Amino acid sequence: MNEGAIGGQMVLTHEIANYPGVENISGYELARTMKSQAQKFGCVIKSNIKIASLELNDDLKKLLLMIKMFYTSNAVIISTGGKSRMIGALSENEFKVRVFHTVQLVMVIFSG
Ligand SMILES: Cc1cc2nc3c(=O)[nH]c(=O)nc-3n(C[C@H](O)[C@H](O)[C@H](O)COP(=O)(O)OP(=O)(O)OC[C@H]3O[C@@H](n4cnc5c(N)ncnc54)[C@H](O)[C@@H]3O)c2cc1C
Repeated sequence: MNEGAIGGQMVLTHEIANYPGVENISGYELARTMKSQAQKFGCVIKSNIKIASLELNDDLKKLLLMIKMFYTSNAVIISTGGKSRMIGALSENEFKVRVFHTVQLVMVIFSG
């Protein structure tokens, strides 16, 4: 489950230069490959779902979503990663989102 697009921080870069087993690949392409590999092994991926809180005390763990729904699971792996610090410039977040969408669009166009 991911609050944004699948791939996390790596989709923000046009070039992943040192990932094990891969000499050079775009972040978008690596994320796409990881996604399809995981799906081939039966992994169900849900994007655009923000987890608001977790209840982990019982055997059946509860994941409460921002949209006031919840999922239950026998196990939970938390990998919330990192976020780059913003400098507080005007419209900074808007430009970051625009760059992100442009990078994704360009990758889709050039990868066919
Ligand atoms: C510009 C750039 C270039 C990079 N280049 C390289 C490189 O060449 N080689 C390299 O090895 N690494 C590179 N990295 C670093 C690499 O992208 C990160 O180390 C890697 O993405 C970390 O993966 P992660 O899964 O731990 O975390 P993240 O990629 O941060 O993923 C965490 C995910 O958790 C989600 N999340 C967080 N909180 C919630 C919540 N409450 N509910 C639901 N979802 C949530 C986020 O949306 C995010 O998708 C680069 C990073 C950037 C930004």
